[in-house]
Amino acid sequence: MIERKVSVHLTQSSSSALLTFAIPNQCPHCGGIMTPDVVYAKTLSNQPRGEYRVGIFLRCTNTDCLKYYTLEYNVNTAYQIITYDRLIKYTYQPPIIDEFPREVSEVSPTFKKVYDQALKAEQLGLDQISGIGFRKSVEFLIKDYLIKLKSEPEVDVKSEFLGKSINRIELTSLKDLTKAATWIGNDETHYVRVWKDKDITDMKAFIRAAVLYISAEYQAAAAHEMVKK
Ligand SMILES: [Zn+2]
Repeated sequence: MIERKVSVHLTQSSSSALLTFAIPNQCPHCGGIMTPDVVYAKTLSNQPRGEYRVGIFLRCTNTDCLKYYTLEYNVNTAYQIITYDRLIKYTYQPPIIDEFPREVSEVSPTFKKVYDQALKAEQLGLDQISGIGFRKSVEFLIKDYLIKLKSEPEVDVKSEFLGKSINRIELTSLKDLTKAATWIGNDETHYVRVWKDKDITDMKAFIRAAVLYISAEYQAAAAHEMVKK
């Protein structure tokens, strides 16, 4: 942590305020310890008093990085030094959106949890492990579908190999989708790749289609309960 006097530019005026900020000395990009260059600082409050926010634009000084970044502080004019605990935490991780129908969480909450984690790994560029996660999510989707929607024997379905569970699926389209997704997933897990022209994008498309079939069946079962009365 380093303390720096920073000239903060105020909105709609040419004036500025000189404030002292505690600034982290670690670069958020390269992780290197350095003293960043302060490029610019601005607040959108015209006459700052009490609580307001300041954005500081900085640049890493490590010569093999030199990337720009932003820090934002919750400033209270009562303090002489804007301390580290006034720093607003940024994560820069876009929200995970899987776009699955809500009812898939009813059928298999674990599928949704594992799939979203795999999606997060993929977004972070962890392409060597995201596929394994997607493969795991399919296993939960199929087994929970068989147990909850098809009333297959829970003890057997839980303990048997995934291939055996897939063969219990009556709907041919759903069986093919989950089988194909699993095969691609196995390629992601094993040393030798069998399906060279298929990748995670195909796998995700198959999983999505399978989820839509299962979602349709879930809703149809609810409709059936209503109609038979
Ligand atoms: Zn850096």
